[in-house]
Amino acid sequence: MVFGLLIKIDKFYPKTEDRRPKTILFMSDQTRVLVTGAGGFIGSHLVTFLKEKGYWVRGVDLKHPEFAESDADEFEILDLRRWDSCLQATRNVDEVYALAADMGGMGFISAHHAQILYNNSLINLHTLEAARTNNVKRYLYTSSACIYPEYLQEEANVTPLREEDAYPAQPQDAYGWEKLVSEILCHHYKNDYGIETKTVRFHNIFGEKGTWEGGREKAPAALCRKIALAKLENKPEIEIWGDGEQTRSFCYITDCVEGIFRLMNSDFSEPLNLGQDRMVTINQLADIISKIADFEINKKHIDGPMGVRGRNSDNTKLKEVLDWEPAISLEEGLAETYKWIEQQVKEKYSQDGKQTAQTA
Ligand code: NAD
Repeated sequence: MVFGLLIKIDKFYPKTEDRRPKTILFMSDQTRVLVTGAGGFIGSHLVTFLKEKGYWVRGVDLKHPEFAESDADEFEILDLRRWDSCLQATRNVDEVYALAADMGGMGFISAHHAQILYNNSLINLHTLEAARTNNVKRYLYTSSACIYPEYLQEEANVTPLREEDAYPAQPQDAYGWEKLVSEILCHHYKNDYGIETKTVRFHNIFGEKGTWEGGREKAPAALCRKIALAKLENKPEIEIWGDGEQTRSFCYITDCVEGIFRLMNSDFSEPLNLGQDRMVTINQLADIISKIADFEINKKHIDGPMGVRGRNSDNTKLKEVLDWEPAISLEEGLAETYKWIEQQVKEKYSQDGKQTAQTA
């Protein structure tokens, strides 16, 4: 896309007595993109992917990426709950990938309902309105399989969820309710204001360079950490929340960013599932990781939040709309993820020997 960009920049003021701002015309054939949540797991991978595709990318987050430097052309630390920050973040860009959210795994989202609803509502209301104010053309919102009603997810052997199953609505947590309202917001902004909104519903994305400890990590990362620690200390017992027979599907990060990119560049504007449709139990997930680690484990089932009993993605519409579906198998994705987490665990817990699996 070719476009002209008018920017007034202080540093281009002449150093002579004429202090009036000069307007400078930059010509660029690069599409300019904002990724919010660019310091997080999916956001940091997406920035790298978009840079490889030749985009100019601004990343925005409360923090820089934890595990590698961002590939963004520009990275701004901003709190997107604030209207002024959102206006600043969305200036002079053609497209916004809206990933910023206060989120975590089951343990976090089942225990911080008010905080999540408040923070994420502000982030999404302000980011979308600021994008409209700044004439952004396309806006991709990252929703979640957590919007699907609890009453359709009571059995482990669940029927895969189709996009139209979202209503009548009854998400399990405030996290899901907020995502649903933001989906509706995108729908109305498209109809009322013409901004091209897209909505993706992720089903458990996993991979390297994501949170792997501290309480916000999700099941694949938590199990990789527990097994890596068990192996390091040669203590095969690992704890699993509940009976471990709850089911999910898991999608590897490279498929996730490819899918988001395809959706942004499609003309589809209604919510779309993005995940794998191979359902496994949490016990099976642990067994796959144990095999990759080449370390046998004993599972100790303890009380803990389990979320819905079963969840899987129906990818019929995904295949239809994008003419594509996730291709990386669970084993392939977990092999990469485990290798990375095992390295993190070794670096943190074996060097000085101060912390042990019990204290982690
Ligand atoms: P993440 O927690 O790694 O990244 C989210 C980022 O948003 C974090 O870096 C965080 O600092 C940032 N953020 C939070 N509050 C902010 C604020 N006020 N201002 C600016 N930045 C703020 O999560 P992720 O896994 O990369 O998820 C990205 C998006 O995808 C989120 O919207 C999430 O809800 C959604 N999602 C993820 C999954 C998954 O499996 N990872 C599943 C469903 C939906």
